[in-house]
Amino acid sequence: MDKLIVLLDADDTLLDFAKSEKEAIVSTLKEYSVPVTDEIVDRYVQINKHCWKLLEDGKITRVYLDRLRFDMLFEEFGITGKDTVAAGACYRAHLTERGYVINGAVEFLDNISKKYRLFLVTNGTQPTQIVRLRTAGIDGYFEDMFYSEQIGCAKPYKGFFDHVFSHIENFDLSRTVLVGDSLTSDILGANNAGITGIWFNPKGLCLDDKAVPDYTVAGYAELEKLLDAIDKKEQTKQ
Ligand SMILES: [Mg+2]
Repeated sequence: MDKLIVLLDADDTLLDFAKSEKEAIVSTLKEYSVPVTDEIVDRYVQINKHCWKLLEDGKITRVYLDRLRFDMLFEEFGITGKDTVAAGACYRAHLTERGYVINGAVEFLDNISKKYRLFLVTNGTQPTQIVRLRTAGIDGYFEDMFYSEQIGCAKPYKGFFDHVFSHIENFDLSRTVLVGDSLTSDILGANNAGITGIWFNPKGLCLDDKAVPDYTVAGYAELEKLLDAIDKKEQTKQ
């Protein structure tokens, strides 16, 4: 029996994105001599989310996203005369330096990597994510890593998953699950790709009407138990 194939999202599933993001935006604002307040930092977080949603909806490119968030932020706060392309690059550089795992993620990966085949599937950019995963000490757990920017297609689109599936040796759709925190990219992506979607939802967020998770878990212990159960269930099916 082939091992279960587990596709894992990176940010907010294994990596603490909020912590990295806050530190990176504070450093960037300081570098651009913009006064750092809770208001501007919070607004950046909201704008960033909005821009990522535009990317998921196919309305903007990954490269444009980098500057757009600073175009929007600076305009809203009446900050003029700044190069937003450079600010985007500066933010990315600061983000790259920072990789923090969510509590319990290393132990979780350590446990499941002994039983299952692990692959990373992320909409983040490769140079940023690879350094953050390395800094966080979890890059070694994956058989392969897939980045939407390189593939030219992002989660939740089927094209992203078609590429991933065709690059996994001995791929078996019925033995593949995806774990992620985002309904709009991960779970909708699993739905589009016809694989089991596990919603990692430690914050207890509400479902929307578009994405349909097969399972929902609140933490790593529950997630590991679920993977073991799915593995056994699939094995007895054979
Ligand atoms: Mg995520």
